[in-house]
Amino acid sequence: MTAQILNGNRIAKQLRQGIAEQTTQLIAKGYRAPGLAVVLVGDDPASHVYVSHKQRDCAQVGFHSELLHLPNDATQQQLEDAVTGLNARKDIDGVLVQVPLPDQLDAQRIVELIDPSKDVDGFHPYNLGRLAIRQPALRPCTARGVMALLEATNIPIRGLDATIVGASNHVGRPMGLELLLAGCTVTTAHKFSKNLAANVQNADILVSAVGKPGLIDGNWVKPGAIVVDVGITRDDQGKLNGDIQFEAAKQRASWITPVPGGVGPMTRLGLLQNTLQVALQQLR
Ligand code: NAP
Repeated sequence: MTAQILNGNRIAKQLRQGIAEQTTQLIAKGYRAPGLAVVLVGDDPASHVYVSHKQRDCAQVGFHSELLHLPNDATQQQLEDAVTGLNARKDIDGVLVQVPLPDQLDAQRIVELIDPSKDVDGFHPYNLGRLAIRQPALRPCTARGVMALLEATNIPIRGLDATIVGASNHVGRPMGLELLLAGCTVTTAHKFSKNLAANVQNADILVSAVGKPGLIDGNWVKPGAIVVDVGITRDDQGKLNGDIQFEAAKQRASWITPVPGGVGPMTRLGLLQNTLQVALQQLR
């Protein structure tokens, strides 16, 4: 078997068109465009690239976007003032603070300061809690994006065995909650798991989110599985690599995401979907 490619670029582009159409309709009815504010602290080159992609995405679908750039030595108070100010703005639907933050800043305090109703990253404990009790509000973007990828396969996933590798607050844990909500039997493997190979071999759906290239031997993949690689690591030559040995996995899976061009564009799509969701809620 050779897997079909789950092309995140193509799927995200299609879904972005729908968001652009909804935005055009809102504006035609006299409403303002959905608005996203991104706070960036410091000069981390990768963060600058991610933020510029987010702004470009917003421009493509007709959203208003703003960047608030604070210096590398910004204090906790300065950052908290910035977030509080954005929380209060009526024309801003989504507030996002780009991570990682410089060491002097308490990132978790900032996450919890963002108004949960504007938390378009979906990282606030309120939003994670809503997902945990099966009443999702704003959903973490990567897990939301992976669910959209799974939907694009047209394979009913209720009842399937899903294994997630990696248990971070931002990706692994919300991914488990999403798949549980969708009716899968969920296993989360992490660095203390005793038999990663067995966990992977059992998975009808495999999602890896660790950031260790080649961690998952492609020969472990269950024949016919849907394989989603969230991991992205840049090697010395500047090439991006996933966690899963792609070529071997592709010979066994039914569907597989490439790296890059798989989950990344869907994460960015999730941010647009969340921002539109907040804007529509405001109108209601
Ligand atoms: P993270 O916070 O570093 O989390 C990685 C997780 O993997 C942690 O739970 C870690 O456990 C666990 N882990 C470490 N070694 C392991 C092992 N041998 N087996 C199983 N689990 C292991 O990273 P993240 O934010 O979740 O991101 C994970 C990867 O996805 C990174 O490569 C990141 O760049 C990528 N990513 C991609 C997108 C996208 O849009 N494509 C979005 C977000 C993240 P401990 O915490 O106990 O160390």
